[in-house]
Parts: sequence; structure tokens; C-alpha cells
Amino acid sequence: MSITVVGSVALDTVETPFGKVENALGGAATYFSTAASLYTQVQLVGVVGDDFPEQHVEFLRGRGVDVRGLQRRPGQTFHWAGRYEYDNLNNAQTLDTQLGLFASFDPQLPDDYRSADCVFLANIDPALQLKVLEQVRQPKLAALDSMNFWITSNKPLLTEVMRKVDVVLMNEAEALEYGETFSLVAAARKILELGPKVLLAKKGEYGAALFARQTYFFAPAYPLEVVKDPTGAGDTFAGGFLGYLSRVGDYSLAAMKRAVLHGSAMASFTIEDYSIDRLRTLTLADIERRVEQFAHFTNPRGEAIFDTLSLRV
Ligand code: AMP
Repeated sequence: MSITVVGSVALDTVETPFGKVENALGGAATYFSTAASLYTQVQLVGVVGDDFPEQHVEFLRGRGVDVRGLQRRPGQTFHWAGRYEYDNLNNAQTLDTQLGLFASFDPQLPDDYRSADCVFLANIDPALQLKVLEQVRQPKLAALDSMNFWITSNKPLLTEVMRKVDVVLMNEAEALEYGETFSLVAAARKILELGPKVLLAKKGEYGAALFARQTYFFAPAYPLEVVKDPTGAGDTFAGGFLGYLSRVGDYSLAAMKRAVLHGSAMASFTIEDYSIDRLRTLTLADIERRVEQFAHFTNPRGEAIFDTLSLRV
């Protein structure tokens, strides 16, 4: 049971109407690894510069993440700056993207990373996603995430990588942008026609939808009273989803539906605090409690019990 992940390891500057954090630990692969390491062995591939605090590497190591594939080089760490307003909680407005050392990164996987059961190509240049995918031997599941930045700048190569994976994860707006349509069903059809078995479209506070050829499954988001910073919701959704599949060793559609609930629960915790802070103390038992509650949310005879005080009846 192991997942090899490549993606941004970053320092983020995030603004919301309530506050700002500067150079906080971020990056798609960081969020993913922090979440998935609750379930399974994670092997991280990426690069950071000499401006990246060693305590962040120590934090990942402390969670059991294998960081031998995380290179440290002279130069600048990936830096992303984004802003959320009341009307764009589900889609950050990017203010700045500095690729830093990722612009010239040439990933070389340690040999045991190549035999991982699962590979996750987290958000990063599709050229790097492809280089990692080509080095992994016959994973049971390959999944990819991306965003508008790469859809706009390198759609042909992104499409080439999408053709080679089993699962594509994207925000709803990004799936629509990729499919050049206002219909998520039409976007899903275009993406599944490329070859993936599943599209997972994340709808932020409205949940997540799984599209497979003849299967549709929808999971709500957890109703939260405390929402501080939506950054990383998508990556930790992926961490809960793939972490669960890797742990149970089952990559069937039925397992994927249960995994969507784990992804949704994981993302709900992430946004309760800035950066990865809420995940520092999170346990699998906390996740499972929310997963159980999901089963009641759409059952009129179910009794949903919320964690958040004001919703308790
Ligand atoms: P999300 O889960 O979509 O909120 O992802 C947030 C993370 O994605 C942030 O921590 C950023 O550092 C990272 N990120 C933002 N833009 C990019 C990009 N163009 N490529 C890779 N990672 C990015």
C-alpha cells in the first residue's frame, strides 16, 4: 500500500476578507501528502529552494511521508498568491504564480517509488506529471488533478496525460473550462472519451460528483460553521479519496463511492483553518465520524448529528 505523488510544494500567500497569511506551507502535493498519510504510505516527489523552512520538511517526515524524492536546491520555492471573496469561495482568484525551481525540475524517482500501487499527479506542469507517470511501473490506479493555469497554458499536453490516467479530478469550473461547455455532464463525457474511467468534479461547498460511463454519484459537502481558508480543499479531497482506496486495496467503482465521502470529509476539516493547520491534529476517527453522518444527510428518516454547535438540535 503506497502512493507516489508529484505536485507543487509551495509557500502560499492567501487573503480572505478576515485575514491574510504570508508564505504559509502550501502546495498541491503538500496538502495531498498531509491528508493521505493518515491512511497509507506516501512517497513525495517535488523540489523546494533554500527559502523553504526545514521545519516544513520535518513536519512531513513526522507524518511518515517519504521525502527522499523531495529535492532541495539553491533557488526559489514555488510561490502562489491567491484571494477569496464572499462570491468566490469555491474558486480562488490567483494573484501571482511563481514556479521557481519547478520551472527547471527534472524528477528522478527513487527505485521503490516506481512500484507504488497508486500514483497521484497533483496539480503542476503536465510535462512533469508525464515524466513521473512514465517512471512508475504498472500502478493499480493513476489519478490526475489540474487547474485553469495549466488548461490555459498547455491544454494539448494536459490532454495527453489525461489519456493515460484512470481518474481525473478537477474543480467544476475547471472541468467546464476544459470541456468548453456550461454542462458538467457534457464536460464529463468529453473527459471520459479520452480514456479515464472516472471524472471527479469538485463543487466546493456544494459537494462533489463522480461520473463514470453509466454511473453518477454525488456526495454533499459537510455543513460547516467555521470556514477560514478554502486553500487545499481540492488536494486534501484527493488525499482522502486515494488514501482510502490505497488503504482498503480496492479500486472498484463501489469503493470509489465510499472514497468520495472520505475526500469530502477530509476537505471539510482542511478549510476550518489556514494552511494545513487543522490537519495537524486530525485523526482517522474524526474523518469516519463525518463520513457516517453523510449517510443521513439525504435520508429523510436519518438523524444527522452535526459537529458544529449551532446546528445541533
Ligand atoms: P486547491 O486544493 O485547489 O485549493 O490547491 C491549492 C494549492 O495549489 C495551493 O497551496 C497552491 O500552492 C497550489 N497551486 C496554485 N496554483 C498552482 C499551479 N498553477 N500549479 C501547481 N500548484 C498550484
